Amino acid sequence: MSNMIEIKNILVTRECIVGKKCDICGKEIPPTVIPHRYGEPIHDYYEVTTHHDDWGNDSVESYERFEACSPECANKLWEKYIRDSAGKTNTMYIEIEHINCWVPDYKEEHDDG
Ligand SMILES: [Zn+2]
Repeated sequence: MSNMIEIKNILVTRECIVGKKCDICGKEIPPTVIPHRYGEPIHDYYEVTTHHDDWGNDSVESYERFEACSPECANKLWEKYIRDSAGKTNTMYIEIEHINCWVPDYKEEHDDG
């Protein structure tokens, strides 16, 4: 058996990210000027992941991910995390990744468009 192939245009309905909001201040994170990828806007933001590493399986479930608009909001989040965890967990881990940050020098050297 072989497939009979025809090229067709198909209209697909799916969930798209059209905007992002800061999990701390609630402000909308504006899209970057970098062209949209797959029709979705690209945002420059801080991804903050918190978790504890105490003994037991619940350390896996303790992972929480937040999106912050600025270093100030990322800071507020980690302060809150430490305050809320005090007395509940022995270990507090915070990872912060600056997502989609294009520093001017990097962009010039690697811009192939
Ligand atoms: Zn914010």
